[in-house]
Amino acid sequence: IVRLSHVKKSFGEVEVLKDISLEVYPGEVVAVIGPSGGGKSTLLRCATLLETFDAGELSYGNLQVAHTEGDKAVYGAKDVIKQAKSRFGLVFQNYNLFPHYTVLKNIMDAPISVQKRDKAEVERQARELIAKMGLEGNEGKVPCELSGGQQQRVSIARALCMNPEIVFFDEPTSALDPELTGEVLKVIKQLAAEHMTMVVVTHEMQFARDVADRIVFMDGGVIVEEGPADQVINHPQHKRTQDFLARYE
Ligand code: ATP
Ligand code: MG
Repeated sequence: IVRLSHVKKSFGEVEVLKDISLEVYPGEVVAVIGPSGGGKSTLLRCATLLETFDAGELSYGNLQVAHTEGDKAVYGAKDVIKQAKSRFGLVFQNYNLFPHYTVLKNIMDAPISVQKRDKAEVERQARELIAKMGLEGNEGKVPCELSGGQQQRVSIARALCMNPEIVFFDEPTSALDPELTGEVLKVIKQLAAEHMTMVVVTHEMQFARDVADRIVFMDGGVIVEEGPADQVINHPQHKRTQDFLARYE
């Protein structure tokens, strides 16, 4: 569904992504773990076009978004970028909801204004997603009237209402109290059971082990180790992975 090859990205003198290659297949759940500053968010931001990389390739299915010429990344035209952006959803740590929009309007906004879909059809889907996320009765509320866990479930519904092929999550529960974390992880688990393709940056090792098909361990701008969840968590091969996981014992 998405393929990144040999991606390099520097901020000034600091190389934050050093030749990263990652491919995500349909129906797969990939968890990205690793210490702070390892480049996880930067990788997600590059994959979702919030950030441009310096060298490397990016494609969504057959759609080539960026390729390398010489040693520089060259991005596709505006319409290619626009097409690519309609293929994924994105859920951040801090929800990023519109504060003055109701729950329903937050979810319906992009499908109508960006995807130009029919309002009645979008509303039907939005109400289905609200039910699925366990948010019935909150349609008319604004984000500040909701708990963090509810707000995060609104932002998941908002991402899903675009009918994405893949959803990226950047630490979706790290702003939440432990008791609210569970309700958000539960809906992500449910999506995994429905074979939604997802990439989840997370510090929740238990969740990564339970839900991810594959775990990618990043440190210092490289993918140090990746493999089936059970293998990476229970039998890490590299010392850096072992040391990192030991902190979660
Ligand atoms: P965390 O677990 O803390 O979220 P991370 O793995 O997501 O960490 P990144 O946010 O990708 O790490 O950051 C990787 C490195 O890039 C860090 O050293 C960070 O300071 C640097 N960095 C990230 N964004 C920028 C930016 N916009 N300008 C300059 N440096 C940046
Ligand atoms: Mg991060």
